[in-house]
Formats: sequence, structure tokens, C-alpha cells
Amino acid sequence: MTMEVDILELSDRSAKFVLSKATTAFANGIRRAMIADVPTLAIEYVNLYDNTSVLYDEQLALRLSLIPLVTDIETYMPQAECEICGGEGCPACEVSLTLSAEGPGIVHSRDLISSDPKIQPADPNVPIVELKKGQKLVLEAIAHMGYGRDSVKWQAGVACGYKNVPIITIENCDACGHCAAECPKSIIRVEEAGARVAEDDVIRCSLCRLCEQVCDINAIKVDFYENAFVFTMESDGSYTAKDLVLNATNVVKGKAEGLLAILNQL
Ligand code: SF4
Ligand code: SF4
Ligand SMILES: [Zn+2]
Repeated sequence: MTMEVDILELSDRSAKFVLSKATTAFANGIRRAMIADVPTLAIEYVNLYDNTSVLYDEQLALRLSLIPLVTDIETYMPQAECEICGGEGCPACEVSLTLSAEGPGIVHSRDLISSDPKIQPADPNVPIVELKKGQKLVLEAIAHMGYGRDSVKWQAGVACGYKNVPIITIENCDACGHCAAECPKSIIRVEEAGARVAEDDVIRCSLCRLCEQVCDINAIKVDFYENAFVFTMESDGSYTAKDLVLNATNVVKGKAEGLLAILNQL
């Protein structure tokens, strides 16, 4: 059984696709990998040389840590797994970003100057703090690769979820319209011949089954395919949506290969 993927929507930061001929466990493995197991870069340490802004040092550090950074998974590795420095910190596992600003004005993520031109804030317009006249902010921030399972600042996938592909069948309908009035997705149309759901709208069904409950003659039935899923996902910007799904798939593949290597040694 070869899996199939049908892309419904794809943009830089988000995607919607149908994954078929797959098990629920596999679909959930991909979802979990996107939110917990694909490493990203995020600011971990901040050396503050000057901070006369209204924010405490700790508040500033928290804000900086939550700015998504475009991540190059080929160049950087999680610091705890870095074989070059053994976790001490080196160009293979950390990036330095500096910031120097003086008020009046709002400091934005675009004011961070990265030591690696490839590693930049995913969104240049994230406000960090407003400086009044004479207030200063001078700092160096060190970003590390880490996993979403350890902290939300390293979570690349946001709003990642899936549902089974719905099946809606309508037979012997008397066109009373109760189901259409109840449907929260407004996908049921009632015509003279009875209620119907357009083929393209079936995928929008949330499987809530409210239509079944209000149909007195059991004319509408809602079911789903066990092995087909509608995935929706967004990236925080550290990867494009496509690369995040690819990286998540590689994580699942790597785990399966690791298990296979162990079993082969038995
Ligand atoms: S299950 Fe819910 S969303 Fe789907 S068609 Fe029925 S009422 Fe609408
Ligand atoms: S509630 Fe039942 S009978 Fe009424 S329109 Fe819907 S499917 Fe038809
Ligand atoms: Zn290192």
C-alpha cells in the first residue's frame, strides 16, 4: 500500500493536504514530529550590556527567545548533540545576534544583526520594546538549535492537526432543511430533490454529526475513511511549510531506521 498525498493549499507558511493509504499512528507521528521533533534555532542566552528600557532583563530575554529564526538544518545541529564542541558552543551549533539601539523609537526583530546572513528573524517586524528618548539597549543574543518538546521557543509547527476524510451520504431525503440549518460549516444545500453537499465541500465537514441528530428520518449519514486524513499545518517561519513537512518525515524515517538497526543486531 503506497501512501498518496494530494495538496489542497500550499503557501510559504501553511499547507493543507490529504494523506491517504496511511494509518492513524503514522499521521499522528508526522503531526508530533512537526511540533516536537524538528529542531529549530531560537535565542537561548542574552548578554545585556546596556538596558535602560522599561522592560526587565528577563522580560527582554523571553521576548527575544520567542522570535522565530529562519533555520538552516543542514548547517546547524542541536548543541547537546554537537560532536565538534561536545556541547560547549561552536559555529556548528550556535549563532550570535547583536542589537544596539537608542530611543526614541520601537526596536524590532529586524534590528538584530546576525553573524550568519542565512539566519535571520523569520518576520522582520516583530516589536521587541519601545525606547523613549535617551533609553538604550545593547545586547548579544546566542541562538541554539533545540527541540519543541523541550520548549515552545523551539516549536517549528503551529496549528498542526488532522482529521479523517469525511463521507456524507444522503438518501430518501424529504428536503425539510433541518440539517442545513444546523450545520456549523454551512455546507448542506437543500434543493427540490433533497439535501446535498457539493463534492468540494465534503472535506470541510467537521464530523460533528449535528445533521444526523436533527434528521428525523435518518436520511443523512456521516462517516469517514479510516486511512485518509486532511492535514492542516502552519510553520512559525523557521522553515517553509514544505520543508517542515519534509523534515518531519525525515525524523519519522530516522526513528524507523534506528529501530531497524537495533533489531538487526539481535
Ligand atoms: S457532520 Fe457537522 S459539519 Fe459535517 S455536514 Fe453534518 S452538520 Fe455539517
Ligand atoms: S434533515 Fe434529513 S430529511 Fe431533512 S433535509 Fe436534511 S437529510 Fe433531508
Ligand atoms: Zn558545537
